[in-house]
Amino acid sequence: MKPAKNKPCPCQSGRKFKSCCAPILSGVEATSPLVLMRSRYTAYALGVVQHIIDTTHPDGPHFREDIHLWRADLQRFCQTMKFEGLTILDTQSAQDGAQVHFRAHLSENGEDHSFSELSLFYQINRRWLYHSAQT
Ligand SMILES: [Zn+2]
Repeated sequence: MKPAKNKPCPCQSGRKFKSCCAPILSGVEATSPLVLMRSRYTAYALGVVQHIIDTTHPDGPHFREDIHLWRADLQRFCQTMKFEGLTILDTQSAQDGAQVHFRAHLSENGEDHSFSELSLFYQINRRWLYHSAQT
């Protein structure tokens, strides 16, 4: 279920969906870890689980060999959770990669499941990928 192109982007960048995360979800490469971070949040919010799978670093702890099970788990998570917003707290480059510190606002049946995470991103062939979280 995608928002209308002219609606605000789910990642709360303040931009329209069509000029924010929509192109990234359609396969345009993210130009920075922050852009990728936003697009992954939007993918969760919209249930575009393939984007989450495609942008997970194969050496990271979240990567799963069984794509079918992984996809099913992601779909369940996306359907259960209500994604209420994203706050970017900080971004900085790290050794060989980059860090994005954010707070994701989510809830399940009215219960708050918001969390903060320091995500690590690395590049493969100049493509940014989500690697892991430092909590
Ligand atoms: Zn966005």
